[in-house]
Amino acid sequence: MLEKIIELKGDIWQVDLEERGIPGWTAGYYIKGEGKSGWMLIETGPASSAERLFDAANIIGISPQQVKHIGVTHIHVDHAGGLGVVSRYFKDAQIWAHPVGERHLVDPTRLIEGSRAVYGEKKMQEYGEVLPVPEGRIRSVLEGEIISLGGRTIEVWETPGHARHHVCFFDHKTKGIFSGDTAGVYAPHLSKLLNHPVARPATPGPDFNGELMLQNLYRLARSEVQNIYYTHFGAASPAQLLLELVIGQLLMHMHIAKDYLKEEDAVHKLGKALQDEIKKGLRISMVEKNIDETMVSNEMKLLMDPLFDSADGLLADLRKSRQ
Ligand SMILES: [Zn+2]
Repeated sequence: MLEKIIELKGDIWQVDLEERGIPGWTAGYYIKGEGKSGWMLIETGPASSAERLFDAANIIGISPQQVKHIGVTHIHVDHAGGLGVVSRYFKDAQIWAHPVGERHLVDPTRLIEGSRAVYGEKKMQEYGEVLPVPEGRIRSVLEGEIISLGGRTIEVWETPGHARHHVCFFDHKTKGIFSGDTAGVYAPHLSKLLNHPVARPATPGPDFNGELMLQNLYRLARSEVQNIYYTHFGAASPAQLLLELVIGQLLMHMHIAKDYLKEEDAVHKLGKALQDEIKKGLRISMVEKNIDETMVSNEMKLLMDPLFDSADGLLADLRKSRQ
């Protein structure tokens, strides 16, 4: 059984948003400020997860008025689709988002159209309705912006790559980074069972830029970051090891993609190839530890299913770079 709310070190609570009813896929985080400065929420998840966030706040003992800040790493619906609903509930909260994302949050028409094209109608239904965020609530953030929670500071790092409008939030107190999708996705259960970190990069189209993602991963790996608070899924350390793992995989994935560029049905074939590559990396330790895929089917899905989207992004990025 997965725990729905986990109290982490340094006054941070990790909440399982049970995205589209699936436990262990998408997390939001409540950070407690110093003194009476209130709380910050990072990532709302989709609209259909809003009730989970409100319930969690209630259980932790946070009143809606105490949430003073909401940050979203980027505007993809699995991260920020619920911001319209959540910002109405936490009505005193300042919202922090990248300026490129801001206009699509205030008027989500294009965001909804683009998401429907990527995810399809059924998944969009499951995500719930993307409501506009009231204008004037959002503060545009760029590199170096400081969000002050009493004595506690959260710093914005611009990290384009997964999307142009991607930012990470660095918590000085725990030397932890709320990485959105920049550091990839992490499988906490598998990592524990196999006794080594299991993660992979997240490179979906249409916006993915491999060179930028690499630059930002190098930056994170060489920084003072010690902990990673993944949106997909959960808190993990040591950061450097995890980041270097994903850097290696990303280089590998970008390299493999070149083989498929001119193939027919390239997305599907590359998606399969990426799945094989990741399974190959896991197979030895899974056999050694007597773990079969059915025991970890949820996390295997988290690792494997989105790889067709990742293949699409890798190929689109290659085509752009060759133009
Ligand atoms: Zn995501």
